[in-house]
Amino acid sequence: NKFEQLGLNESLLRAINDLGFENPSEVQEKAIPLLLEKDTDIVALAQTGTGKTAAFGFPLIQKIDAENKNTQALILSPTRELCLQITNEIKLYSKYVKGLNTVAVYGGASITEQAKEIRRGAQIIVATPGRMQDMINRGLVNISKIDYCVLDEADEMLNMGFYDDIVSILSTSPTDKSTWLFSATMPQEVARIAREFMRKPLEITV
Ligand code: AMP
Repeated sequence: NKFEQLGLNESLLRAINDLGFENPSEVQEKAIPLLLEKDTDIVALAQTGTGKTAAFGFPLIQKIDAENKNTQALILSPTRELCLQITNEIKLYSKYVKGLNTVAVYGGASITEQAKEIRRGAQIIVATPGRMQDMINRGLVNISKIDYCVLDEADEMLNMGFYDDIVSILSTSPTDKSTWLFSATMPQEVARIAREFMRKPLEITV
């Protein structure tokens, strides 16, 4: 099994088998061993449909401590739809990891309900930048202990005007976290985020 060779553990391999994935995609082959092996920052140029959610999702699930209830990872994504899609995928991938909770946070839905879900314990939060910033301002979420931040579809998030929210969120999170940035294109604003908030990111292109 090629997924086994990437260094993934038994609970992930079982979930992958259930999903019927036979071979890792190119971005998965490049990103997974790297992210599992060391705590590095990466910039990955990858389009939607390349399997990028699993490329960051598998290593994230493997690295998170499911017995610790603190929020350990934040995934930022541009839209509510994408947010729900990523949450759904992470839940499928982590179905054999006991105690691992993933919560979606996005605008246009009850902030109270989302805050309640987070209080029950959310090691992974998948959020749109606007709602995330709102929850931080209201003290409804604590990202002071995150080890990982994923910026998914970074170019789209910046196109949608989330630059200030992203900068503010990144500024209030620990500086020693790992940041994994995924983007289909690399406009100046994305390069600027990488330059200002990432530590010598390794680049992956597919
Ligand atoms: P994404 O690019 O993350 O939006 O993934 C696109 C679709 O491919 C999703 O429906 C995934 O469930 C699926 N997928 C991801 N990785 C694999 C794989 N290695 N083999 C088959 N399907 C996959």
